[in-house]
Amino acid sequence: MSCASKSKIQATQVSGVNLKWVGVPDNQFKENLELAFKRLNVFLEDEGLSQKPVQKLIDEVIHFESKKLFDSEIKRLTNGQMKTVPKTYVAVGDDGILRTISLDAYLKVHPEHSIKDFVNILVHEAAHIFHSKTYGNDGMGPVWFFEGFAIVAADQYVDEVTLSKSEMRSIAVAKERGNYKEYGFMVRELQKSHSLVGMLQKAKDSPNEFTRYLGL
Ligand SMILES: [Zn+2]
Repeated sequence: MSCASKSKIQATQVSGVNLKWVGVPDNQFKENLELAFKRLNVFLEDEGLSQKPVQKLIDEVIHFESKKLFDSEIKRLTNGQMKTVPKTYVAVGDDGILRTISLDAYLKVHPEHSIKDFVNILVHEAAHIFHSKTYGNDGMGPVWFFEGFAIVAADQYVDEVTLSKSEMRSIAVAKERGNYKEYGFMVRELQKSHSLVGMLQKAKDSPNEFTRYLGL
């Protein structure tokens, strides 16, 4: 590959959202992205969270042909603080911008996964953008909650773990990042007694009372 084609950046639009290609464009990606938006919109509407399409909250989607190109962008964004990008870090939704590696690159990282898992990741990252744009970066609640919310929105890790009430309590007060499967379980379990819209609002309005509000 020549240097010229490596640095080639082209742009297009998908359901009104700007889509930028870093490296070779993948036309099938547009369909994956449209499906992800559609799924998230159905979820948000079902939960009474939004009447407007999530696309309105997304400023830009950037598609990286390879994990290598994605990693250099992440290093640039973190001002070199992240020296090595974890192997499984393949997409991020932050400040209205959704960045992702291509499906081909994703399947190299996760050979056992399918296109559905890839679309799930797009839904997950778009859900983070919905969350931060609607409730503010500082109003997203603890890590277990905002990750759990995105996991539930993206229909990931269903029925993979079970936790007791006291295990949930220790995860809710833990300082360090934990297991995403557990985060997903917790939000699903709490949905049995609390509405998602209520939890999102409480996490923003009264972060200090959040754990107590949830009965944890
Ligand atoms: Zn996430």
